[in-house]
Amino acid sequence: MKDECGVFGVFGHLEASELCYLGLYALQHRGQESAGIISSDNGEFYVVKDMGLVGEVFDSNRLESLKGTAAIGHVRYSTTGSSHAHNIQPLYAKTTHGKLAIAHNGNLTNAAHLHKILKDDGALFQSTVDTEVLLHIMAQLKTMDFSDRLIQALQKIEGAFSLVGMDEHCLFGVRDPHGFRPLVLGKKDEAFVLASETCALDLIGASYEREIRPGECVIITESGLQSIQYSTIAMPKQCVFEHVYFARPDSIVYDQSVHKVRKAFGRVLANEFPKKADLVIAIPDSGNSAALGYSEASGIPFEFGITRNHYVGRTFIQPTQSVRNFSVRIKLNPVSAILRGKSIVVVDDSLVRGTTAKRRIVALRRAGVKEIHVLISSPPVIAPCHFGIDTPEESQLIANHKTVDEICDYIGADSLGFLSREGMLSAIEGVDSRAFCTACFDANYPIEIKDKGKYSLESDPIHFC
Ligand code: AMP
Repeated sequence: MKDECGVFGVFGHLEASELCYLGLYALQHRGQESAGIISSDNGEFYVVKDMGLVGEVFDSNRLESLKGTAAIGHVRYSTTGSSHAHNIQPLYAKTTHGKLAIAHNGNLTNAAHLHKILKDDGALFQSTVDTEVLLHIMAQLKTMDFSDRLIQALQKIEGAFSLVGMDEHCLFGVRDPHGFRPLVLGKKDEAFVLASETCALDLIGASYEREIRPGECVIITESGLQSIQYSTIAMPKQCVFEHVYFARPDSIVYDQSVHKVRKAFGRVLANEFPKKADLVIAIPDSGNSAALGYSEASGIPFEFGITRNHYVGRTFIQPTQSVRNFSVRIKLNPVSAILRGKSIVVVDDSLVRGTTAKRRIVALRRAGVKEIHVLISSPPVIAPCHFGIDTPEESQLIANHKTVDEICDYIGADSLGFLSREGMLSAIEGVDSRAFCTACFDANYPIEIKDKGKYSLESDPIHFC
């Protein structure tokens, strides 16, 4: 099971749940299936969570009921099969040490393994999300000190985890030792804020203080912020796909502007694939920044050649292929008045199954385009992600079993080019290129995936109808 998620937390503010709600709104692109907030009023927990978008889950009455000066929130999108109410985060539990709530972005790679051990020991699982193992581990540890308990629990889990959580006295934020997923720290007046991306800080008028470091845990109480480096590894492995596609362009991720990085991808793409064309257009919105970069470096004018209908969500999230094809059509429509008879470069951020590109090319041909050169501002996706990006299994990844020429034929383009892995990494200036996880592009997984092909959390679910 894979999740794409956004997390948010605030501590020490009279409007904690309102800020959390706004933060989740800004992080909606990270998950559109369910949303939840748990607030804490001097250790009393209040919970609102439901299936749906942030704007659908919360209304003023529900927000008012979320009392207190601390809150954590979560937006989630999971693959088919695990989209049930019992899996909505944040998760919470009452333990012998008091109440505990957790919201998780990422994917634990030894969750099934731990789940089996805990279940054999008598643990009663309420969900099929990997995050729940952390609640059980923390509940079972005898250590009295909260930070010791948290660190001991963190040392048992593996994989990708950017977490925000609360007990009755604190807010905490954690990044896994490799730093697969982002997490940032902000300040709003005297209050501390944690968020997956800085765009959430911008919306609530919080300042961006810094990233939570890979392997760092911060614990925030009335007395301030305590930072614990609970693990240190030689080289982090931050997900490069956040820069390629997942993060919002107005965010700072791994201390770099996402928009600027994407523009740089486009400039390198122009060097790697110089084309003779009348116009550069983007598949909106994901290809916008890279298309601008391509235009800047090549001198070929950029045009808004495709209009996006903003009233449909991300088409990728539809569970069946037939629905996905249909929604790709409603979402994007070419502006034939500027495209007819032209030779164009079409830039998109990534090509996964090839659905989007194939449909767009049919529509562009129908709009009278003469020549279509498709350029992708990332390398071919050849392997599934085990660290929190929802990529389909190998058989559905077109680049896993077709050559670039075969993909070009399949999507019906006149030419097709992918940014090279080296070109992509060289475009991210000032960061050691070894500090990125590029497993979806090269199948080189930085850690062993213990759960692969073994017992699954989904293997024996209770069916919610
Ligand atoms: P596909 O149509 O399957 O080739 O998917 C590629 C399109 O989906 C691109 O336009 C991307 O912007 C977008 N995309 C890529 N990866 C993801 C993902 N993990 N979740 C949602 N959308 C994605």
